[in-house]
Amino acid sequence: MTTLLVTGGAGFIGANFVLKAIADGLKIVNLDLLTYAGNLGTLDAVKNSHNHIFVQGSIGDRACVTRILDEHKPDAIVNFAAESHVDRSIDGPAAFIETNVVGTLALLECSRDYWLALDNAARERFRFLHVSTDEVYGSLGAEGHFSEQTPYAPNSPYSASKAASDHLVRAFHHTYGLPTLTTNCSNNYGPYQFPEKLIPLVIQKALSGEPLPVYGDGMNIRDWLYVGDHCEAIRRVLEAGRVGETYNVGGNAERPNIAVVETICAVLDERQPLANQAPRKSLITFVKDRPGHDRRYAVNADKIHRELGWRPSLTFEQGIRQTIAWYLSNQAWTTRVLNGSYRMERLGL
Ligand code: NAD
Repeated sequence: MTTLLVTGGAGFIGANFVLKAIADGLKIVNLDLLTYAGNLGTLDAVKNSHNHIFVQGSIGDRACVTRILDEHKPDAIVNFAAESHVDRSIDGPAAFIETNVVGTLALLECSRDYWLALDNAARERFRFLHVSTDEVYGSLGAEGHFSEQTPYAPNSPYSASKAASDHLVRAFHHTYGLPTLTTNCSNNYGPYQFPEKLIPLVIQKALSGEPLPVYGDGMNIRDWLYVGDHCEAIRRVLEAGRVGETYNVGGNAERPNIAVVETICAVLDERQPLANQAPRKSLITFVKDRPGHDRRYAVNADKIHRELGWRPSLTFEQGIRQTIAWYLSNQAWTTRVLNGSYRMERLGL
């Protein structure tokens, strides 16, 4: 049986990855610090599974990471753990450097030492997959796409910290031979996303008829990918990616923020109209722009398609409908996040 050490597996993408991997018969050791972004409630479905071992701890805690590696002998490590919210990185960059840079370095050092001590066959099989973002490439004008050759030009403390971690991963491959893989993915959306991020925030506010904040003129463009498709891409790269390589992952679904918000309004109006029948679009409120807000991201994902046969299974319109349907049927999950009771899960309360 394949055993994976997944870090950050109580967060949005990590938990989606863990749920699917366990359903597919993999064994997962899940190391998560349970910051505000970690939510054990998301993992309810696997809490009694023998194939899910949860450890609360930091990727920066070398003793903890080494103990896990020695005890569970994973075949691969998938590193999702990070501080991930751009606005929080503007207010307080230090935590981003601590986890995304210093923490990733500690995880890499422990992984290298573990990998070097494996027997030949296990060393040959081992992989360290680092999950990163397209934001490391900076901002695009109206034309062009990020490819794997695009020079790094991060603009926010978040993207700078992720860029630094990507460089460390690259260096551990080139210097020590650690069999690394890196994925740089565009904006994700889907079930279990913390409602500080655009799509779940807008769904939740639109449902309760609150103003819908949109930064600047709403014309910042992002490429959107359904989280399940991102998790599939990671699985493909893990199985068949070329060691030492990076793979861009994208949804081929560029949308200005305002179009994303209007789509959510239209779907919700259709499914669950407001009591006063007002179109939710009228709730849109433009707010002061985020400092240094990147204008446009667009990902060229030809390499992962060509080499590994991966492409998104859902269009944005299919994915957003599926996502809205999930939030409508799982309002208790959002309520527990908003009222803070999700943080009690770790205490088993
Ligand atoms: P998230 O904020 O929802 O989850 C992060 C998880 O990491 C949380 O469970 C948190 O408790 C945990 N964590 C934080 N610090 C830790 C530490 N020191 N040790 C162990 N665990 C720690 O983030 P997400 O949106 O799921 O993103 C996961 C990864 O994917 C991140 O590396 C992010 O940079 C990358 N990524 C995200 C997106 C996106 O759109 N969300 C897109 C591309 C790449």
